[in-house]
This record gives sequence, C-alpha cells and structure tokens, in this order.
Amino acid sequence: MTDSVSAGPAEVRVDVVVAGGGLAGLSTAMFLARRGIRVLVAEKHPGTSIHPRAAGQNPRTMELLRIGGIAEEVRRVSDIRGSQGVFTIKIAESVRGRVFDTFAESFEDLVAATAQCAPVPWALVAQDRLEPIMLAQARRFGATVRFGTEVVSFEQDGEGVTVRLRERAGGGGTVVRADYLVAADGDRSPIRERLAVPRHGYGTLAHVMGMIFEADLSGVLPPGASGLYYLRHPKFTGAFGVTDRPERHTFWAEYDPARGESPADFTPERWVELIRLGLDAPDLRPRLLEALPWEMAARIAHRWRQGRVFLVGDAAKVNPPTGGLGGNTAIGDGFDLAWKLAAVLHGEAGPGLLDSYERERRLVAELVVDESLYLYAHRLAPHMAGVVPAETGYAQVILGFRYRSDAVIIDDADPARAEDPARASGRPGFRAPHLWVERQGERCSTIDLFGRGWVVLCGPQGGGWAAA
Ligand SMILES: Cc1cc2nc3c(=O)[nH]c(=O)nc-3n(C[C@H](O)[C@H](O)[C@H](O)COP(=O)(O)OP(=O)(O)OC[C@H]3O[C@@H](n4cnc5c(N)ncnc54)[C@H](O)[C@@H]3O)c2cc1C
Repeated sequence: MTDSVSAGPAEVRVDVVVAGGGLAGLSTAMFLARRGIRVLVAEKHPGTSIHPRAAGQNPRTMELLRIGGIAEEVRRVSDIRGSQGVFTIKIAESVRGRVFDTFAESFEDLVAATAQCAPVPWALVAQDRLEPIMLAQARRFGATVRFGTEVVSFEQDGEGVTVRLRERAGGGGTVVRADYLVAADGDRSPIRERLAVPRHGYGTLAHVMGMIFEADLSGVLPPGASGLYYLRHPKFTGAFGVTDRPERHTFWAEYDPARGESPADFTPERWVELIRLGLDAPDLRPRLLEALPWEMAARIAHRWRQGRVFLVGDAAKVNPPTGGLGGNTAIGDGFDLAWKLAAVLHGEAGPGLLDSYERERRLVAELVVDESLYLYAHRLAPHMAGVVPAETGYAQVILGFRYRSDAVIIDDADPARAEDPARASGRPGFRAPHLWVERQGERCSTIDLFGRGWVVLCGPQGGGWAAA
C-alpha cells in the first residue's frame, strides 16, 4: 500500500470508507448504514468468504444481530442444525478414539450455560453463510459494498481521508473522500502496516493448514451430528468440524517449519491420510475442496486509532480460534465503532467519544486473547499449561466484560476485568443486566431497550431521572 493519493478531485463522497468486507467490515457497514451513515465497503475478493471459519454466534453477538435486524434470519438458518440436537465439542485422539474431555454433548448444553443471562441463545451459522446475510442487510440499509475492489492507498488531513480504490478485474480506479476510514482488512492489515502500528502479544503459536472437504460421514458420525473435535492424535494436532451443510466438513492440522515442514507437504494424498486418521475411517474417500493456510496467533495492535483511521476485527487483534471468539469480537468491534462514528457524524457527540472505542474494545480484546490462549493450551497444547493466563470463564468473557474509558463514570474501586453475568451488578461499564420486563403490554428484555438511541434506565418511580 502506498502512502499518498495521486489522483485528482474525489469522484465519490461518503461519510465512511470500510476496507475489507469480512465479519468486521460488514458489521461496521451494517450498523453504520442502519443509522443513516453513507458508507462504502471495498472488498478485494470477488465475494464473501468461502471458508466456514467462525462457526457459532454467541449470545452477545446474537444480541447485536438482533439490533441489526437479522437475528431471526440467522436463527432460522441455524435451526437446521440445532434442532437435530446431536452437538458435541470434544478433545479426543480421533473422532471415535480416546476422549480427553467433553464440553458439550448437545446444543442444549451450550445454550444452558448462558440461558439466564441473555435473551437470545447461541446460533450455529458458519461464516460463509453469515456474511451474505450481513451483506444483504447492510445493502438494504443503504450501504454500498463493492467486491473485487482493493483499497490501494489513503491519505488523511484535518478534514477527512482520501482513499484510492482499484477494481481488480478491469484495473480502473476511484478516488473516494470520506470523514473516516475503517481498516477491517484482516490479520495482515495493509492499512495497519502502512500506519506502522506495531502489535504485541504472544505471537505465533502454530502454523496451520486448513481444508474444506466433502464426504458422506453417515457411517462415521451419528445422524445429524454437528460440532467440533479437537484432535490430539499421536501423528498430528488439529481439529475436525461439521459445517451447516451435511456433506461439507472442515479439518485442520498444525505443521512445524522448525522441523522443515511447510504447506507444500499437504499434498492431496497427505490430506486424505490425515482425514482418515482423524475420523478413524480408513476407507473414506473425501473430496478435497479448498485449502487455507493460517497462523494460530495472539496479537493486539498498539493503537486502534490513528487520526481518522480505525482498526477493527482481526486487524486490531487476533487470537487462537479455540473458543470461537475472533469472529464474534470482530462483530462486536464493528457495532461499537459504528454507533460512536454515527453519533459523532450526526453531531450528537463530540469527537472525543471516538477515543473510547480503542480504550473499551481493547479491554475486551485482552480478555478474549487471554481466554483463547488458556483454551488453546487446555485443548491442543497441554505443554503450554503453565505459560498461558488463567481461565476467566467463558460467560464472563462474552457477557461480563467491563468497559473503562473517559465515556464511562465508574464510581467503585473494583479492579476486576469481568463479572459473572449470572449475577450482573448493573454497575457503569458492564453490559446492562438481562431482565424480562413489560413494555407496552409485551414481554421484552432490558437488553432490547438498547441499541436504538440514548437510553436512561430508572427505578419504578423514575425519580428525577424519568423527567430528565
Ligand atoms: C480455522 C478458523 C476457525 C475459526 N473459528 C472461529 C469460530 O468458531 N468463531 C469465531 O468467532 N471466530 C473464528 N475464527 C476467527 C474468525 O474467522 C476471524 O476472527 C474473522 O474472520 C475476522 O474477521 P475480519 O473481518 O476482521 O477479517 P477477515 O475475515 O480476514 O476479513 C478481512 C477482509 O479484508 C479484505 N482485504 C484485505 N486487504 C484489503 C484491501 N487492501 N482492500 C480491500 N479489501 C481488503 C480481505 O480480502 C478480507 O476479506 C476462526 C478462524 C479460523 C482461521
């Protein structure tokens, strides 16, 4: 990415340009457009993700998707799997081999863990299905999303950002002028690199090759089975996951460059061997669809804002996928930044509010990284058990986090990063407690009162607050 924009006057004027149309970019765009902000997303790939990657939406994400108006659609798609009931998360030597630990035996187990803290349960929709739903809603709200379009350079000044886009197929370009630029451009974030923002954290934990494959597993798994198996096989470390398409599955295996291993070792023959070992299915003939090299890593960007440019999602922090927190927090980042940008662009808040984005979301990122590291060691790398942070607790991380910034007036001395959402205290900085209340004769959650505008919660009599 170059540092300057050499074209003439802007051809397009919007409020916000978003670089990248993954979960973070689409979330930012959907929540911005919903508030009437003119937003343009440039995504270099020809379409949304083809990889299932993030497989579940936790209750916090579902609350946000409810505000975005797509929770029902997401649940409808998810129900195809959830209603089948056989849902397992296990650590095992192989799918039918020795089991080291089991976290969930059914979808109900997963739901029960947070049922009393949130109005909506988990959904199980893979990323390649969720992104098109978010895309359609962002467009319905008025967002412009251009695929096959790359952000090639940007330049900021006191009044705004000038961004140059290049159409990858035709080579044509567009110059866009905006108030803000959002870097939702993933782990390798060219924008973060261009801004020379360093990252800190544990760094690389493992090199991984992923594969999407198709096979009829009716003789291998119970009918309608879904879930995830972390595999600590004597010959490899990896995972096997079921997607929301009955014949389609994911598999990944770690490799070690220090031992001379590389992605080139993952020939079709090697994949077939690994999949057969992992599934205890020596005669299985998997149809290999698409390989994806990735890095198991834990890193947080030093700064999430530089002037008029903001980092969201994997561009701001990456964590191991153990626990399924990366995509969920990417959506949370987009939601948080979007309402703040909208408030400032609509003149409802001063620009100082934007500083709270990094301060608040980084606290969540630190919790998420620590928890994912703990889960990685527990599930796949027992030799790291003494090195990684202690467990906080999954419900605490997703629903019990505490924001601290100049925008939150905290009047207690409790230093805790999170609380148990089952005993939510309602103190400033925490997510509001979920309670069922009646509103105009209908049952709704206190959580449903938020996300549409400014909200004051007051006691039954209201006191001075109701009048205020
Ligand atoms: C195997 C695996 C399993 C996972 N499982 C889970 C899970 O179960 N739950 C969970 O929550 N998370 C999971 N994750 C993590 C989750 O997938 C990521 O956290 C999430 O995709 C991050 O979204 P993002 O939008 O920030 O980044 P990305 O999805 O990487 O999107 C960034 C986008 O930016 C585009 N881009 C880059 N540069 C430019 C440019 N210059 N111009 C235009 N576009 C550009 C890219 O093409 C890309 O589409 C998993 C990840 C992996 C690898």
